[in-house]
Amino acid sequence: MAGKLIIIGFGPGSEKHFTERAKEAIRECDCILGYKTYIDLVKNLIEDKEIISTGMSEEVERAQAAVKIAEAGKKVAVISSGDAGVYGMAGLIYEVLAEKGWDPKTGFEVEVVPGISAINSCASLLGAPIMHDACTISLSDHLTPWELIARRIEAAAMADFVIALYNPKSGRRMRQIEEAQKILLKYRSRETPVGLVKSAYRERQHVVITTLEEMFNHEIGMLTTVIIGNSTTFVYSGKMITPRGYQRKYSLNAEVQKLRLHERLKQENEPWALHGGQEKIQTPATLAEEALNKINKPITPVFEDIFMVAVSPGVANKRFTPNQLLVLAKVAGEKGIIEYSTDHQIHLQIPTSNPDHIVEELRNAGFLLSPIGDVLTVKACDFCDGEKTGAIPIAEQLYERLNGIQLPKELKVGINGCGMACYGAVKEDIGLIFRQGKFDLFIGAKPVGRTFHAGQLVEEGIEPEKVIGIIEAILQEYKEKAHPNERLYKFFKRVKVLCGYPYKDMTPDFEIPPAVCGD
Ligand code: SAH
Repeated sequence: MAGKLIIIGFGPGSEKHFTERAKEAIRECDCILGYKTYIDLVKNLIEDKEIISTGMSEEVERAQAAVKIAEAGKKVAVISSGDAGVYGMAGLIYEVLAEKGWDPKTGFEVEVVPGISAINSCASLLGAPIMHDACTISLSDHLTPWELIARRIEAAAMADFVIALYNPKSGRRMRQIEEAQKILLKYRSRETPVGLVKSAYRERQHVVITTLEEMFNHEIGMLTTVIIGNSTTFVYSGKMITPRGYQRKYSLNAEVQKLRLHERLKQENEPWALHGGQEKIQTPATLAEEALNKINKPITPVFEDIFMVAVSPGVANKRFTPNQLLVLAKVAGEKGIIEYSTDHQIHLQIPTSNPDHIVEELRNAGFLLSPIGDVLTVKACDFCDGEKTGAIPIAEQLYERLNGIQLPKELKVGINGCGMACYGAVKEDIGLIFRQGKFDLFIGAKPVGRTFHAGQLVEEGIEPEKVIGIIEAILQEYKEKAHPNERLYKFFKRVKVLCGYPYKDMTPDFEIPPAVCGD
């Protein structure tokens, strides 16, 4: 039996907006895969099917599983909300297929069933905000560098696109939407209409029309799409409307139009258009000039990069000197951000086109510098202000060898100088506790969420000279085998044995209901 893989976008969420082909395709399939919230949304349609529901961040496993099922000769559907080809599963599945060398002529059939994407469903509830050139930008920087997202926002803002912001905010990503607003305000007025649509065509649908200035007075979450109007978008009677441009040629309140039908496409009546090979016609083109003026706001300080770096006075040393604080203030300047982080570091974000001189100044002030992102961060206690010297050399060596290395997901190695563990190393992804001249090793803490748990003790009494080698081996295995974005504890749970250490479930044995924004 020939397998088939169908990737289905089921639209915003209500069955009425599910296309006929999507319903039919689900009927055709033996097995359905999807994120559990989506499976629930479409449960009426899939009662008799084999269902494999997974967590939200398990897309890669889901795509691989779907491909395997189709290879085994079954018909399988993968469901995505909205359109599966818009930040959905379609691309990832084709990427997995490309990795495997799938050939449409000889391999199983693949079909993508289109659905109504959030930009369309949300626009319909707001009125008609995307009547003119529009774009979508996802604010999720889990897989895309923030710098690139910021540039795209800037470019779209500058070019006067209507912008639909997907993934505007989640429990862990709060700042992106604030940064986006700052960029937009460089090019658009504070009064620009903004539509916030949460859970379009779902049970908890909520629609708000506000302005760019006031958008944060309303709730924005991971089920919201934010639609930013262009410079001509207006609000009328609770509806957000972007003009198509008819007013340039027509009088919308007159029954008889000034321009007759045959006159409407004449060059002199479209002075704003690009006319084939001719000089621009000089007419008092008030409307055209008006339109251009609206977007010709100052376009100067564009594309200054944001340099991001983490600094600390030392691995064990936690004391800043007054001069170091002065240097931080100086390099951050008026526009930079200085932020205290949870890893005993200060994070800097500085708009600059020349980060080298900043690096030099920070180094001269005696700072240790580390990259920010999906990298390893060494976090140590202060070894009782340097009184307990035993483990300091190892902490420093760990920092030198491993701090800042790229990993599938951010990872923290905590080190404590004694068994008191007052800095809580056991709650980091990897924890090391120095005790009676040797190290105890903990791995796999779940450092976030309501089902937080400490790491499991995997080995006691490790000789100091062996510690770095062991950590490197763990990281090597993690780097090679983990999925992108898979945190160490999830990876350990999935592979069951890491560097020879068997996995033990550390999840609390009492029931903790999942939080709204994930697990
Ligand atoms: N494939 C989906 C997008 C997935 S990305 C689509 O085409 O619509 C997830 C983001 O989509 C959410 O953060 C939100 O911004 C948007 N979204 C998806 N469904 C939505 C809905 N019913 N109402 C409002 N926004 C929605």
